[in-house]
Amino acid sequence: MYQERAFELHTHLYGCLSQDDLRWLAHRREPRWHIFRNTFRETYGMDPNLDDIFAEDRRQDLRQYSVYESVGNFPEFQCCFDFVISVSHVDPEEVYEVARRVSRRQKEPWAEYRMLLGPQWALPDFLERVRSICEGFEQEGRDSYLAMSLWRGGHLAEDQYVALKKLMAESNAVRHRLVAIDFCAREEGFPPSEKASLFERVDRDNRADPGSALAILYHVGESFQDKSLESAARWVYESAQLGAHRLGHCIALGQHPEEFRGTVRKEILPERIAQLEFERQSGFYVSFSRESEYDEELSRLEAKRRSFLQEVAAVADANETEGMVITNWPSLDIEYTEDRIRRIRIFQDELMNRIKQRNVVLEVCPTSNARIAAVQTHPVHRFVQSGLRVVVGADDPGIFDTTLEKEFQILAEDGLGSELEQMIEQSRRSVSTNMSGRNA
Ligand SMILES: [Zn+2]
Repeated sequence: MYQERAFELHTHLYGCLSQDDLRWLAHRREPRWHIFRNTFRETYGMDPNLDDIFAEDRRQDLRQYSVYESVGNFPEFQCCFDFVISVSHVDPEEVYEVARRVSRRQKEPWAEYRMLLGPQWALPDFLERVRSICEGFEQEGRDSYLAMSLWRGGHLAEDQYVALKKLMAESNAVRHRLVAIDFCAREEGFPPSEKASLFERVDRDNRADPGSALAILYHVGESFQDKSLESAARWVYESAQLGAHRLGHCIALGQHPEEFRGTVRKEILPERIAQLEFERQSGFYVSFSRESEYDEELSRLEAKRRSFLQEVAAVADANETEGMVITNWPSLDIEYTEDRIRRIRIFQDELMNRIKQRNVVLEVCPTSNARIAAVQTHPVHRFVQSGLRVVVGADDPGIFDTTLEKEFQILAEDGLGSELEQMIEQSRRSVSTNMSGRNA
């Protein structure tokens, strides 16, 4: 048995909801079914049958609507996710009860639950919910903790962080239960480098007042639709370098490049430039063999970027371009030839080697990665071979119908043995309060 010994360090509070929880939520307040219905219609081209969906004789249908079991079908996953969204209202009483329910049935000796509240929540509402979750955990008295997921876009994360620190000073429950900040949801368009100043600030605050230190958790390298495999691997490395304590998924860092053989990926222009600059500076050549080739291609791409920005400025109002987020960058084709595959493998090995030098922990979620990212061979094998620190998480056990126990069993069936014991030991050492220096 693994679950009674391993610490759960990568899971989401609302991803833990069971079918009974969903039934309870739906009875508590009228579900916002239009959310689920719209997604369902877009995905399957028909309406879901929600009549008495929580009745005993419709258990199978309820499961079909709320549990995601396919592979590589993101719209289907979104449907199951939106089922949970539809029955939730995220009011303070609800999050308090959800925290209590989830904590009460926790099998692991310690678990850290992430929670994302979208940018639609004003700061006072955001804080009220944080406080309620922490009080719910406090009420149960188990080792259940909160890692608050902050918003990736714009400057909201800074404001949320400052407000959280203030709340910690006011509330004992929050000071005790809030142990980390996290970044999740959509990665594309939000380079880790944009978080540099926030990460520095957290590090400074952690040193100045270890008693309220917060760990930095960061989902990265999980989804990279707008970029190459090598750029996504670089993002994992950059996140580690910027001072994140634990990295979620990191698939691109260890996914076998052979899985991309013969395919062509699109990479947006600024990412291609960033990747070529990184390759030239680090000497880890993936795209070319000689520095002069990098210089030539980079000046060509820089010119392309300048003319694109000029075009954008010509059509937009001068005031609008200030701080504007560009969503329609031109893309370049990246071909996964034998030569590129060979070089990427070496590139990933070099990055893993560098990450190993830092005190960073990788969180792997086998079921989630197999079903959402559709990896054929899980990168965990390369992580382990490279000597990286790895822990296991169930991510959204409710939506995937899994448990941490099952996640360990999957890895055992996949050929891992003594490594699993090391991961359990690693999970004890990698709790947020250790990584942030709060326990020091
Ligand atoms: Zn996650």
